[in-house]
Amino acid sequence: MIDDRKSEGMLVVLSAPSGCGKDTVLDGLGKKAGWIKRSISLTTRNKRDGEKDGEDYYFVSRDYFLSRLDSGQILEHTTYSGNFYGTPKSTVDEWLKNGETVILKIEVEGAGKIKELYHDSISIFLIPPSMKALEERLRCRMSESEEEIQSRLTIALNEMKNAVSYDFIVINDDVDKAIDDVYSIIVSEGHRTSRSTRILNESMSF
Ligand code: 5GP
Repeated sequence: MIDDRKSEGMLVVLSAPSGCGKDTVLDGLGKKAGWIKRSISLTTRNKRDGEKDGEDYYFVSRDYFLSRLDSGQILEHTTYSGNFYGTPKSTVDEWLKNGETVILKIEVEGAGKIKELYHDSISIFLIPPSMKALEERLRCRMSESEEEIQSRLTIALNEMKNAVSYDFIVINDDVDKAIDDVYSIIVSEGHRTSRSTRILNESMSF
């Protein structure tokens, strides 16, 4: 009998510098592949125009965030530009137990933590075509102060140095192509032999 202990869901981490368009890519991915579950993080940062509580993030107070953290209900967390961000543990674990494919939109520190906790998770790093393009996008968004833009550009450059430790790199030059690329990676990974042993066993039974 082939070992089928790995037949549970697949965890996918998507990281990208702030302003690289990862939300657009994730929205496109959601439309193309509604079966991929997207984890919604908790954050203490202010809501941007157009963002919705419970869809983009759960926008919470620092006290609430820290209480969830203390009670072990956050899978991984980070401080980014002075705010807390964290992944809710129970939802992700439940989805994985049910065999779902789950995507987390998190930064590099959190991505490293996830790789330690979930060895067979996969990580994808979305990069901008250039730093100039990234700066233009951050400015167009008009949601951050000049100081915040400079801080995010510095973080972005540091994050991009970590891209080499990811399993896959996708360039977000043409958004439709980036969506297709991320989709193809996820679908191909789902067919990896180590993830398909249960299906193989079933197909071999009479
Ligand atoms: P933003 O403020 O631009 O929405 O997010 C800032 C950074 O925090 C992004 O790189 C985003 O991917 C990351 N981030 C969002 N949620 C989480 C989370 O739950 N955990 C970690 N580690 N990073 C997160």
